[in-house]
Amino acid sequence: MSLNTLSKRQHGLLKSYIVDIDNRFNEVFPAFDLLNPELQPGNRVIDTFSNHFSFHSFSRCSDSSFKSCLQQLDTLAIESSSLSFNALIIIDASVKNNVTLFIAHIHVFNKPVVKTLHHAVNITSSEAEFFAIRCSINQVVLSHETSRIIIVIDSIHVAKKMFDPSSHSLQKQSTLILSELREFFNWSDMNTIKFWECPSKSNWYLHKAVNSDTKSFNLAPLLPNKFFWDFSKKLESDNIINSWKMSFQASDLKERNFLELVNSDNITLEPTYCKGGPWLQAFGHSNSLCTRATRAITNHAPIGEYRLKFFLKEDFSCPCGLYSIESRQHILHKCKRFNKYWNPRRDSIAYFIQFLECNLLAFSFV
Ligand SMILES: [Zn+2]
Repeated sequence: MSLNTLSKRQHGLLKSYIVDIDNRFNEVFPAFDLLNPELQPGNRVIDTFSNHFSFHSFSRCSDSSFKSCLQQLDTLAIESSSLSFNALIIIDASVKNNVTLFIAHIHVFNKPVVKTLHHAVNITSSEAEFFAIRCSINQVVLSHETSRIIIVIDSIHVAKKMFDPSSHSLQKQSTLILSELREFFNWSDMNTIKFWECPSKSNWYLHKAVNSDTKSFNLAPLLPNKFFWDFSKKLESDNIINSWKMSFQASDLKERNFLELVNSDNITLEPTYCKGGPWLQAFGHSNSLCTRATRAITNHAPIGEYRLKFFLKEDFSCPCGLYSIESRQHILHKCKRFNKYWNPRRDSIAYFIQFLECNLLAFSFV
């Protein structure tokens, strides 16, 4: 594994089998197993035991629903400490210096908390949490004393992946977990597994304990390591997004008239592929709103400022009569024709959209 640190001369002196071992060792590719019985329609855990597992997402709508989610987690913790057949598992992962550390705390009635810790280099936190789920389920199921497993995790989409029958890079692991769960569900009709989402920012005390454990270690990779599959994909997409952002920041590519908008945290919007990107998230739901917003953002709109540039013979003053040029700035901030909604922060995308929704004629051809 230290071959990369050797000089060319040292490399030349090596016997071939060491090189062969290096080439074979640590090469991690996703292993698809489409013929696995766990993936056969009609026979899958999602087909035969659909009432034995459930997911509870953390509500992000309001403070009160956020609080009630925390209360429900508290109730789960109290139940687990008083009922002998419950196992409460809290999982978290953190990445530092490319080392992903993943820890699970397993709380079982009348027993000391079992803590498992794993670390790996160049893997995503999703891969790590998936592995932590697998280890914890394995440990709890083997004890034969538990009939209700509750897993609390900050990224519930990772847990859902386990029941996803399509081809994905974690499929090999998910089939192993599913066959273990199948056995667990077969023992008794009462056996269930529940997944609860608990975002790190909620600071729920049991999750916080795992989270601070993951951060207390400072591991540095000693040996050169190859990349895991998902990690490589993540690196690739991070590079693409960075190049998008760089070309976006270079104003000659997006034209100097591009309207800079900020998000609710006052940070300038930048391109990303997540959920359609920040612009489409705000106005992609309506075609007419989308066209008017696009006209306004690119300043490619039926307004005086545009006519002044391309149709010099046409009138470019504002119909309100108070401004010699009907500019985008004037429409957004001063024109009395569009005063159905007023907020000085038109550079925030939320207020900008609110302005367009309240002033249907702004940036329209009508
Ligand atoms: Zn005007």
